Amino acid sequence: MPIRVVVWNEFHHERTRDDVKAVYPDGLHNTIAAPLRGEDGVEVSTATQEDPDCGLTAERLAETDVLIWWGHARHDDVPDDVVARVKERVLAGMGLIVLHSAHFSKIFKSLMGTTCDLKWREAGERERLWVVAPGHPITEGIGEYIQLEEEEMYGEHADIPAPEELVFISWFQGGEVFRSGCCYRRGAGRIFYFRPGHETHPTYHNTEIQRVIANAVRWAAPTGPDVRGFGNREPLESLG
Ligand code: ZN
Repeated sequence: MPIRVVVWNEFHHERTRDDVKAVYPDGLHNTIAAPLRGEDGVEVSTATQEDPDCGLTAERLAETDVLIWWGHARHDDVPDDVVARVKERVLAGMGLIVLHSAHFSKIFKSLMGTTCDLKWREAGERERLWVVAPGHPITEGIGEYIQLEEEEMYGEHADIPAPEELVFISWFQGGEVFRSGCCYRRGAGRIFYFRPGHETHPTYHNTEIQRVIANAVRWAAPTGPDVRGFGNREPLESLG
């Protein structure tokens, strides 16, 4: 069975700002989706905030194995019932990859249970993402670090739960550091937060960043049917 991926984007900056349009003329969602379409065993579609129900109906989510989420300026416009549906699917096993400014999305904050606040600076500075989990499936094919010549800075302290696995730590030219690749499990679902990807920088055109996202799709995908059982049970053997 292929891994069914939906790349979701609020699709706001690319339509309203020329500096963003210049970097992502097809929209961030299409730029993120394009290299995934070349992956074996992966089926990719896109959805945006402009679609009815944000493109995330119960039927669509039921057929989604991994949801990738990019949002920034319009987090509050995502209806609560859509967020509730996504959360329910994550808890039931759907993978979720949360990119960059989606640290403030309703769905990520709800799944983390903290403010997810952080320091930031838009100065187009150098970022070096150091691999701190060599051998982890998400860092496969990546060397010691990924270097991005221009990015927004996110700095510690980030108000997130301690990641269950930390795979990248970023260094920024201005001196800050940040936990840039964070793995979590919630219910049966796997969540990966990946920091880089400010809308005015060509980060999603970078082949190493594309590699990490593709690796994260495979890591976050459900490994099989949900076999968990809950509730009152008859004993398996006689208790007499
Ligand atoms: Zn940003």
